[in-house]
Amino acid sequence: MTESTDVPELPTEHDGRRIVWEPWRDHLVGSCGRPVIQTPCAQCGHESPRRITIGRVAGESRAYGHHCPGCWEFRVYWRVDPPPGKYRGRLDRIAYRPGTPRAAAVEMGVE
Ligand SMILES: [Zn+2]
Repeated sequence: MTESTDVPELPTEHDGRRIVWEPWRDHLVGSCGRPVIQTPCAQCGHESPRRITIGRVAGESRAYGHHCPGCWEFRVYWRVDPPPGKYRGRLDRIAYRPGTPRAAAVEMGVE
């Protein structure tokens, strides 16, 4: 697989807190420990696993980066703690860049 070379910079901080990112890796196993069901990229139809990285704040996993190796669609999410008494937190999207159709075409050998 070709390594993406056009991935935007990950944010180094959010909400005044410094984020330390792990290296990008293929998204093969979900946070529950089970294999991820691979679905084609909604933007370019690329079928390779998406690339992910975990961002840690003070050692705790807090942010999540995601990009497609075909079109380089790029998203970064930030985990917000649940309010007191609630079980579920939420994910805020803090960075986004749409995919590049041309990048996808090159990757798939169309051009
Ligand atoms: Zn894509």
